[in-house]
Amino acid sequence: MGLFSGLENLGLGKYKDAKLMEEKTEQNKIDLGEKQAPKINEEDVLYDKRYTCPVCDLNFTSRTVRAGKIKLASKDTDLRAVYEVADPHKYDVISCENCGYSAVGRYFGKLSTRQMRDIKDQVGTNFKGISNDKVIFSYDDAILRYKLALVCSIVKHAKNSEKGYTSLKMAWVLRGKRLSLKPGDAEIKQLYEQEMECIANSYDCFVGALANEMLPIAGMDENTIKYLMAELARKLKKYDESAKLLAEVITSKATPTRLKEEALNVKELLKEDIKKNGRS
Ligand SMILES: [Zn+2]
Repeated sequence: MGLFSGLENLGLGKYKDAKLMEEKTEQNKIDLGEKQAPKINEEDVLYDKRYTCPVCDLNFTSRTVRAGKIKLASKDTDLRAVYEVADPHKYDVISCENCGYSAVGRYFGKLSTRQMRDIKDQVGTNFKGISNDKVIFSYDDAILRYKLALVCSIVKHAKNSEKGYTSLKMAWVLRGKRLSLKPGDAEIKQLYEQEMECIANSYDCFVGALANEMLPIAGMDENTIKYLMAELARKLKKYDESAKLLAEVITSKATPTRLKEEALNVKELLKEDIKKNGRS
C-alpha cells in the first residue's frame, strides 16, 4: 500500500501515488513501565480549539492536547517526544471539514492568494468531507490527516521545511501506531516501511531546506536541525552524511551541552551500525 492510499475515499484518489519532492525529480523501545493505571484518560487532556479555514472561511473546531496536561515519558533519538496518557502528535494536523485543507498546526494559517486558489481548485472541489467530531483520534484518523496535509503541501508548493517537518511528524505517528501493536501483528512491517519512507522524504526535504531557506527551519536552529538530519541519515544508512553532520554539531561552539551529548550518543549508534552493516 502506498503512502497516500486511503485518500481515494475522500475523493482525492488522484494523489494516491503523489511524490513529495518537487525538484528533479530500530525500533526505539519505549518503556512506560507497568505502573498503576493512569488516573486520567486521553479524552481528559483534549479540548476543542477553534479555527477558521484560510481557504473556505469555515469556522470549525479540532481536538487539541491541552498544554501542560501531559507528562513527558521519553524522547526518541529523532526528537519524537513520548508522553504519558496521550500521543499529542496524533492531533497536530488541522483539517478543514469542508474543503479538506490540512496542515500541521505551525503552518495552518499562512497562505498566499495563489495557494488558497490552488487548494480550492485541486483539493476542495473533489473533497468529500471529513469529520473532526470525535472524542479521541485513532492512529488511523491521524495518519489520514497527515496524508491530507502532505497532499496540501504538494498542491500549495510549500517550502521544503514544511514538507520535511510534516513528513517527520507522520513518521512519528506511524511509529506510535506500530509500537501500540502487539508483537507479531501483520501490520507492523508495513507501518515500519511507511515510516522509513516518511523519514527518507523528511531527510531529502530538510537537505533542500538547509541549502535554500533561512534559519530557523521548522522552529529548529542550525545545530538542532543538523543533529536531527544526522540521525535521519543514520536510520537511512547514509553513514557518511550522518558522520559529517554529527562532526559539525559536536565541534560547533554554539551547540548546547545537552545536544552535544545527544549527538555523541548518535555517533556511538552510528559506529555500531557501520560495524554491523559496513560503510554506506
Ligand atoms: Zn476549508
